[in-house]
Amino acid sequence: MDLAFTPEEVAFREEARAWLLAHVPAAPLPSLETAEGFAAHRAWEAELATERWSAVDWPTEYGGRDAGLVRWLLFEEEYYAAGAPGRVNQNGISLLAPTLFDHGTQEQRTRVLPPMARGEVVWAQAWSEPEAGSDLASLRSKAVRTDGGWLLSGQKTWSSRAAFADRAFGLFRSDPDAPKPHQGLTYLMFDLRAPGVTVRPIARLDGKPAFAELFLDEVFVPDADVIGEPGQGWRIAMAATGNERGLTLRSPGRYLAAANRLHALWREQGSPGGTKARVADALIGARAYQLFTWTAASRFLDGESLGPESSLNKVFWSEYDIALTETALDLLGAEGESADTDWSERYVFALAGPLYAGTNEIQRDIIAERLLGLPKGRR
Ligand SMILES: Cc1cc2nc3c(=O)[nH]c(=O)nc-3n(C[C@H](O)[C@H](O)[C@H](O)COP(=O)(O)OP(=O)(O)OC[C@H]3O[C@@H](n4cnc5c(N)ncnc54)[C@H](O)[C@@H]3O)c2cc1C
Repeated sequence: MDLAFTPEEVAFREEARAWLLAHVPAAPLPSLETAEGFAAHRAWEAELATERWSAVDWPTEYGGRDAGLVRWLLFEEEYYAAGAPGRVNQNGISLLAPTLFDHGTQEQRTRVLPPMARGEVVWAQAWSEPEAGSDLASLRSKAVRTDGGWLLSGQKTWSSRAAFADRAFGLFRSDPDAPKPHQGLTYLMFDLRAPGVTVRPIARLDGKPAFAELFLDEVFVPDADVIGEPGQGWRIAMAATGNERGLTLRSPGRYLAAANRLHALWREQGSPGGTKARVADALIGARAYQLFTWTAASRFLDGESLGPESSLNKVFWSEYDIALTETALDLLGAEGESADTDWSERYVFALAGPLYAGTNEIQRDIIAERLLGLPKGRR
């Protein structure tokens, strides 16, 4: 087994590093949870797309570089090491695009992916509902058949970035008489500015509208925007959750860069006693996660599926992020309390890590039952 990168992979990494060095904005962009920041991040996506860096692993015909998983991971390491901005279209790129590659039509891929790569259309994920979070299959928003398409009605919630985004994808109950809750669901794309859609922003802990509730009242969606077969929505959507929890949502690059920043901050603060072991833990944790990910990636490339192991990743990165960010805030002291430092913004977001992409309680159940073979818990 050869663990070294190929000359092509090394050259790719160097090309990415050089491009990022020349293009990453000198000053951080405003928070993407504000209208101004959202627009600035959208412009950054367009700049990335000019040289096909916005979705490096996609086929070239849709705006990617056909780079594959290994080079995508290398790109991510370079991206975060360069201090490049957070990705405003992550829902689209990490969740919707893989679904369209596997289950969409050629027409959908050609229509949806290039504007996504250029940041012209930013996507929100409309899965959760007020009574359907962990128990997503109990969702009630419905899709009713009409001429040439479907009428969507109901309420979605916690849609990240929907306050400023353009379109959304979500699950809807199209057959209320199906024998089981996860049957009779259809996966659809819809326009957040279509007649019948009301977007009500929800403020995060720091007051920024990081999410929105969506109220849908007979919103027309043409057949062309159904992903896969009507009634098969659950199976299609679940294929994407492994991506979300596992490899693609949180690549190790972001934690390696954050641990290095934490280390630099610790030195700047004069290496205060009592924090040394926590900073060392952060550096070791980032490296361990990187190695675990490379192992998972090579298994994936050998044809194995990630399966329930992506739940291990999810629990790890979410708890790691909180510990790392709390250490940074402790080092900053009173300055860290200010809502406007990038560490405090990161902290607010890190707190949500054990919840979004499936809560850690649910992930632990999956690990216990499917990886460790323990008996099913009481539900
Ligand atoms: C920052 C953030 C961004 C989000 N972005 C999006 C988005 O873009 N799109 C979207 O659709 N959703 C999004 N969500 C919603 C997220 O997916 C849900 O919050 C999550 O699935 C949990 O659902 P819930 O909030 O309804 O909590 P519940 O499901 O009501 O859970 C409440 C508590 O009970 C526990 N619990 C529930 N059932 C069990 C069980 N069977 N066993 C053990 N414990 C259990 C949970 O783990 C949790 O601690 C986001 C959430 C956050 C915090």
